[in-house]
Amino acid sequence: MDMQTLVDDIAAYAGAAAPAGTVADYIPGLSRVDPDRFGIAVAMNSGEVYTAGDADIPFSIQSISKLFTLALALDEDGDRLWTRVHREPSGTPFNSLVQLETEAGIPRNPFINAGALVVTDHLLDTAGDVRMRLLNLLRTESGNSEISVDPAVFASERETGHRNAALTHFLASMGNLRGSVLEVLETYFWQCSLEMSCRDLALAGGFLARGGVGADGGAVLAPRQVKRINAIMLTCGMYDAAGDFAYRVGLPAKSGVGGGILAVIPGRCTIAVWGPRLDRSGNSAAGIAALDEFTSRTGWSIF
Ligand code: GLU
Repeated sequence: MDMQTLVDDIAAYAGAAAPAGTVADYIPGLSRVDPDRFGIAVAMNSGEVYTAGDADIPFSIQSISKLFTLALALDEDGDRLWTRVHREPSGTPFNSLVQLETEAGIPRNPFINAGALVVTDHLLDTAGDVRMRLLNLLRTESGNSEISVDPAVFASERETGHRNAALTHFLASMGNLRGSVLEVLETYFWQCSLEMSCRDLALAGGFLARGGVGADGGAVLAPRQVKRINAIMLTCGMYDAAGDFAYRVGLPAKSGVGGGILAVIPGRCTIAVWGPRLDRSGNSAAGIAALDEFTSRTGWSIF
C-alpha cells in the first residue's frame, strides 16, 4: 500500500463525506476558523511522515492537551494520581457538574474537564512548572520549537470559562484540589489554547505508538503507562461517543473542540486529523470519517 496515495485519497474524501456539523462557537477564536479546512498527518514509527490537505496549519488543540498532561502526571508521580480520579467512561457531557457531586468529588476519568483539572492540579503540585514541562514535551517530540499558545484563544477561555471555574471550586470544596483554584484554572485554559498542526500532533504523540520511546530514542514514559493511556483514550477519549468511535474506527484517540483528533496505532504509527465542523458529540465530523476510512482501508484497527 502506498501511504501517500492513501492520505491524499482520504483528504479528498473526508471533506465531502462530512459537509455537516458546526464549528465550536463558545469563543470567537474558534468560531472564526474556516469550517472546510481538512488536514491529515500519519507519523510512522519508522520515522516517515505522510501528510495531505491542511496538515501544516496550526489549530487550537483544546482537549487533546489533556492527553499530554496525563502523560506528564503519570511520568512524574506514577499511580498516585488514581486516588484522585477514576478511569471509567462518564456517560455524561465532558463539562458536567452533576456527576462530580454524586461521586464525592472524584471525577470519572482524566479526559472529562473535572478529571483534566485534577490532573493539572496534580502536576502543578508534583512537578511545579506545568507550562514549561508541557511545551518542552510537545516541542521536543514534534521537532517544532515554535509551538505556543494562541493569546486570543487564551484570553477568551479565561473570560468565558464559568463552568470550568465552577468545576474547580467544586473540586476544592470536596477536598480534591491541592493548589489554588486560580492557578489550576489559568494553567488549564493555557493548555487548551495551545496551537499545533496535524504534523506537530502526530509527531508529538509518537511515543504512544512506540511503547513510550521518544523521538530521540530515550524514554518519555514507561511502557506500562503507555498501555494505560491508550486504554483510557479508547474508553474515554472521544467525549460521550467513545463507544461509537471504537465501533467505527477501533483505535485509541483523543479529540478536542478545535476539530482535531489524535489517534494511535500501537506498534505502527500515530494519525492526526483536523476538520473544524463538529458532530453532536463535539468530535470532528470529517476527522471521524477520515479515520474510519483509514482503518477500513489499511485493516489497522486494533480489533
Ligand atoms: N476549553 C474547552 C473547555 O474546557 C475545551 C473543550 C474541549 O476541547 O473539550 O471547555
